[in-house]
Amino acid sequence: MTREPFLPFALPDIGEEEIAEVVDTLRSGWVTTGPKAKRFEADFAAFLGDPSLHCIAVNSATAGLHLALEALHIGPGDEVIVPTHTFTATAEVVRYLGADVTIVDIDPATLNIDPRAVEAAITPRTKAIIPVHYGGLAADMAAIGAIALRHDLRVVEDAAHALPTTSGRHLIGTLTSDAAVFSFYANKTITTGEGGMLVTRDAALAQRAQVMRLHGMSRDAFDRFTANVPSWYYEIVAPGFKYNLTDIAAALGLQQLKKAHAFQRRREQIAMRYNEALASLPVITPPAAPAGETHAWHLYALRLGDGSPLARDRLIERLFERGIGCSVHYIPLHRQPYWRERYGLRNERFPHSERVYERQLSLPIYTRMSDADVERVIGAVRDLLRL
Ligand SMILES: *Cc1c(COP(=O)(O)O)cnc(C)c1O
Repeated sequence: MTREPFLPFALPDIGEEEIAEVVDTLRSGWVTTGPKAKRFEADFAAFLGDPSLHCIAVNSATAGLHLALEALHIGPGDEVIVPTHTFTATAEVVRYLGADVTIVDIDPATLNIDPRAVEAAITPRTKAIIPVHYGGLAADMAAIGAIALRHDLRVVEDAAHALPTTSGRHLIGTLTSDAAVFSFYANKTITTGEGGMLVTRDAALAQRAQVMRLHGMSRDAFDRFTANVPSWYYEIVAPGFKYNLTDIAAALGLQQLKKAHAFQRRREQIAMRYNEALASLPVITPPAAPAGETHAWHLYALRLGDGSPLARDRLIERLFERGIGCSVHYIPLHRQPYWRERYGLRNERFPHSERVYERQLSLPIYTRMSDADVERVIGAVRDLLRL
């Protein structure tokens, strides 16, 4: 039997357009934050279809989440509610600011943060909610928005998986939350290698984030109000961060963004093929978006049903033996030593996330997969889960 090449879990889709744009940047003499980062921000606002949005390019989504919470004055004594079924970045940024994280369970029907669990976790110290659009399916933003309004809470969306995703027919990034933060990490729906975009309608938040993105330098603001100041002059108004996106990365982003809708269509096509081909197996296919809504399909997270002949870990091993890479999204925060110990968390408090975690694996879903690659994954899963 000839061994087929290894099919990785994820691969970026970088074309000649991206390469040419990066080369252009390299030849231009301007490699760090400059004209292309600025254009990427403008193009992002245009992509979201709302020129009144402030888009702030940063070197990771983690940085963008940190900046958004900082600008919203989250600090010691405050609590921020996050779902347990997410990557640690969603929660760690809260700790950067000395605030505390309240970790809550998910809704097993959507795998997104459970609004009832959010409501039940609110205390007088609660300041904000960070919903995650898990896998590219929008969280219940109507319910979360209503809770936030009732309790005067800020909402910062972790939109790392959500380009493009809709909620109520509106693209994530254009909702009424305080901010939404996208990721352009290597395996996300578009990539700049490392990068992110903080999107907000709040001019004060945007201005603070722009200053804190680059060392707390106020030069832009200063220049606007002061005549006859030489351009070398700047003032430091706060101990800021080094979170700016380079023009090399932004060059990638400019070209990737143009392909974002086509990428989404291909991912959706793969997801629909998986759904159709795996439905007869003892599995639970991922939750679908409501009719008329867009699912970004960053992840295809399959759950094994009660009748599965193989446990999750064994299935991943067997797929790996057949040259197919899989992953698990996520080991819930309540199972991670740091979060578990800091907040004295027990698995029993997160029954839905627990049940999902134990049975879940993410199959490869990316635009560089050929139809034959997709069929190969399907063939292997069908073979291994055949009763
Ligand atoms: C990838 C990811 C992040 C962090 O994105 P970076 O750009 O790598 O900082 C945050 N939250 C979730 C849910 C993610 O998947």
